Amino acid sequence: MIRHLPARSYVILEAAGRLADEMGVSVFVVGGVVRDLLLGVGTFDLDLVVEGDGIAFARAFARDTGGQVTTYNRFGTATVMLDDGPKIDFATARKESYAQPAALPLVASASIRDDLFRRDFTINALAVRLNAQQFGEMVDVCNGRGDIAAQHIRVLYSRSFLDDPTRIFRAIRFEQRLGFRMDRPTRALLCEAVAAGVIAHLSGRRLSEELKRMFSERRPGRAIARMGELGILHTIHPKFMWSSRLEGLLKEVENAVTWHERNLPKQKLEVWLLFVMALLDGLPPKSVANILKRLALPKHETEAIRAGHAHARTVLRRLAKRPVPKPSDAYRILAGFVEETVLFLLASTKAKSVKRLVRTYATTYRHTKPSLTGADLKALGLKPGPQFKKILGRLLDARLDGDVKNEAGERELVRKLARV
Ligand code: ATP
Ligand code: MG
Repeated sequence: MIRHLPARSYVILEAAGRLADEMGVSVFVVGGVVRDLLLGVGTFDLDLVVEGDGIAFARAFARDTGGQVTTYNRFGTATVMLDDGPKIDFATARKESYAQPAALPLVASASIRDDLFRRDFTINALAVRLNAQQFGEMVDVCNGRGDIAAQHIRVLYSRSFLDDPTRIFRAIRFEQRLGFRMDRPTRALLCEAVAAGVIAHLSGRRLSEELKRMFSERRPGRAIARMGELGILHTIHPKFMWSSRLEGLLKEVENAVTWHERNLPKQKLEVWLLFVMALLDGLPPKSVANILKRLALPKHETEAIRAGHAHARTVLRRLAKRPVPKPSDAYRILAGFVEETVLFLLASTKAKSVKRLVRTYATTYRHTKPSLTGADLKALGLKPGPQFKKILGRLLDARLDGDVKNEAGERELVRKLARV
């Protein structure tokens, strides 16, 4: 099975196995990597677990391979980055216990079996031994392979969701990504944990981190629908609710994202923010403020969401005016919004003419600049001052509206403007 890995990963794992033999420890590749291998899905980054000192092992591995090592002593973990790409995480095999629900776990070193028993779902609780003698041997302590074949997401023990409520979101994420389903007992345990209010125990950071991961998957609309079905949405916030209106908006957001991928592949987009915006759509500003506080996102993200929410309706109304706004007017209406907000506006309108304006803004208007700069105006003998800015603005408008087509045209316009 492990032979199906890309050649580079295979060589890395063999090297880790040899090093483990030298150091007299056991090493395993674990978790999602093994799951994805069994499913024949491509993986790139590798997670290794050492029965022994994971950090010392990572250091030795970095030395052998010329990689860059970063260590996290508090967690007994380390990451090695290799020049040619793959990231390899190392951990010390550990056992966890939870002092109280949703608290961070207490950790003690342990065997690979213990390490697998602390994991979220059986499909992720698989390991493959790398030491030369037993290279490729599977460690499957809770029938993960059976659950992969049955396409089941199953927790390992009944308190799992109570101990770590992030698993609620992980379960839904894996269901959607892999096309699997929670088995009946797991689903019941999830619903019990949700009803017991464990999500409220999650810190804002951990909650938003999980939502961000969920909304960064392909087509998160279904995951949001599933959260509605399982009673999760309104426990995140009482105003979050599944509705056909939300369903429609989520589809539009997904379409806007697809459009962006096709037409602006190089432009960075925090796709997940759009889905948070969709959840907040139509809520009163006070609720939005509360939810944003709860999510504890970094300031610029909070601001992008808030701005989108506060201005969406007015902006769309202005863009929908007749006659259709000129390119320069559309530019002025949309300038200042981040890419995510612009895309959310695209998703929020049904009007074809508005969609066209927003799309053209994203692909063209926002990148339009006059050829002449402040330095050129100076060279033309103009004195810097408020008039400068005005002239540059007029040049931009003229370019956007096609009133001038080239630098010569701009120069002519400057002469005209400077005279008055
Ligand atoms: P992805 O493809 O999204 O990275 P993954 O299965 O690799 O999926 P990670 O979040 O990278 O997930 O975590 C790696 C492994 O660590 C998981 O496969 C799982 O075994 C374990 N794990 C991660 N989060 C938890 C958790 N909250 N509780 C228990 N085990 C976890
Ligand atoms: Mg992973």
